[in-house]
Amino acid sequence: LAAVFSAWGFALYGYGDAYAKGQVVFFLALTMIACVFCLTHLRPAALSVAAIGVGPYSVFFFFADHGHFRAIAVILALVAIGMVATILRNYNDFAKLVASQRALLAEHGETLRLGEENSRLANQDPLTGLANRRRFIARLSELSGSGPVAMAFLDLDGFKIVNDDYGHEVGDALIAYVAKAFSQCLPERAVLARLGGDEFAALVAGPDALREMLGFARAVCDRLEHALTIGQRTVSVGASIGVAAAAPGDCDAHELLRRADVAMYHVKANGKGGVKLYGGELDLDRRRQNALKQEISGGLDRGEFEVHYQPIVDARSNAIVSVEALLRWPARAGGPLGPDDFIPTAEEEGLIDALGLFALRRACEDLRDFDKIAVSVNLSPAQFRDPDFERKVARVLAETGFPAARLSLEVTEGYLIGNPERAASVIAALKAMGASVVLDDFGAGYTSIAYLQKYGFSAIKIDRSLTARIGEDEKARVLVTGVVYLANGLDMTVTAEGVETEEQAQLLRLAGCQSLQGFWFYRPAPMCEWLGRGLLGSTPAAACG
Ligand code: C2E
Ligand code: CA
Ligand code: CA
Repeated sequence: LAAVFSAWGFALYGYGDAYAKGQVVFFLALTMIACVFCLTHLRPAALSVAAIGVGPYSVFFFFADHGHFRAIAVILALVAIGMVATILRNYNDFAKLVASQRALLAEHGETLRLGEENSRLANQDPLTGLANRRRFIARLSELSGSGPVAMAFLDLDGFKIVNDDYGHEVGDALIAYVAKAFSQCLPERAVLARLGGDEFAALVAGPDALREMLGFARAVCDRLEHALTIGQRTVSVGASIGVAAAAPGDCDAHELLRRADVAMYHVKANGKGGVKLYGGELDLDRRRQNALKQEISGGLDRGEFEVHYQPIVDARSNAIVSVEALLRWPARAGGPLGPDDFIPTAEEEGLIDALGLFALRRACEDLRDFDKIAVSVNLSPAQFRDPDFERKVARVLAETGFPAARLSLEVTEGYLIGNPERAASVIAALKAMGASVVLDDFGAGYTSIAYLQKYGFSAIKIDRSLTARIGEDEKARVLVTGVVYLANGLDMTVTAEGVETEEQAQLLRLAGCQSLQGFWFYRPAPMCEWLGRGLLGSTPAAACG
């Protein structure tokens, strides 16, 4: 443009009179100075205009019209030199300014990004990508109070076992898997969060919130009904789900969360795997269970527990061959409580390890000197979860000097189905020590005998519900006969428990049971009673307190 404009000016110049020529000279110079000035911040452009415009101008007017405009030509050249010098100096400052502004902008962008990353980390569970506890509580606080809301509290059943048995990698993969499965069941607009470990929570607001949440909870239970394949492993887990709902003004976020938690706990305490809607009555259950937990652990500290023994007799000779150790709590402040009433709570509250080991140790001490009598101790499935369990048993045997060959451990089948690998490895370890393992309560569940063989049980115990039917029910008789036949064929002996009549004893003998146990023979009684009756064989005289 500068070149064209100059050329145009020079071309016009020849046509004017003196005034017009003066105007051309004046406007060309003014325009060029103005252009260079305006382009100060675009250095190459400013310098080009200065070179293309001012150079030819000065030369042209230096010589034009016999040097009439020579002074202007020289002055413009000097002004141009001055402008170029100023541009060169100012431009560096300007460039620095731009650079520093760019750096500032980039820094700002990075700060924003870090801020976003930070809030993502603070609000998101990294393993599943779901909201975390903090985000969930924040959302819950936002929503509750504004309209009806419903939330579900989900806790996986059997997750800890998978984690302990197969390692954290499988555990993590399982969590990620179920998180995805839960998301697929989620109602629209609902929030799903992982609160930590194997705990999840879901939240939805709206007039239909409760119905939606219950639907979600049931869908989740259905999804977990079948075994899952995680990598190479087949695992089965369930979900215990508590649901709670609130209308505006009903209760705050924390109370709603607590209610869903209480309802979830209720499911856990009542056989796990299922959905429960919170109601006020559940708080009472929870308080009772909590109180019992405190009582049990206090009772353990104060030595309130005892072990009673119920003899098991040889089916043919009626001679006592062994005793079953049964926990008792006679010195409880609130009155004695049977094992069926406190063992489930001990299992849920993590006290069964201490209680079970107490029974084992006491039985080993009490029976050590009766070298003809074996002892059976009950194991709770929950004890298998302790990865150190085998070693603890070995330590009790070593410390009490009780020979492993006289120890039987009774387990129920429940654990076998959920955790075949861990169960098999515990049983193998116990057998390697020399102890035997007995399947308790056979006939109360659904186990097939052939399935049991691979665990290496040395005996099975027919449940007292089956024993009770044997007198009246022809089918029960056939079943017991078949069980004995099969078990013996697989190198397992059979004990029948809960024998209450001579008729039952007779029928069980006919069916081929090797040993019998029940009130018909002996009731469970404390050690000193057996010492007094002298039924367990000779022993160094022992004092009975
Ligand atoms: P279980 O292993 O089936 O124990 C046998 C139960 O049957 C005992 O009840 C015993 O008193 C009862 N019983 C024995 N003969 C008869 C009979 O002829 N008729 C009837 N109706 N009952 C009879 P108890 O002592 O109340 O124990 C209940 C359950 O508590 C036991 O069932 C066992 O599962 C659990 N348990 C007891 N002690 C321990 C322990 O030290 N550890 C663990 N984990 N569980 C224990
Ligand atoms: Ca038992
Ligand atoms: Ca039993």
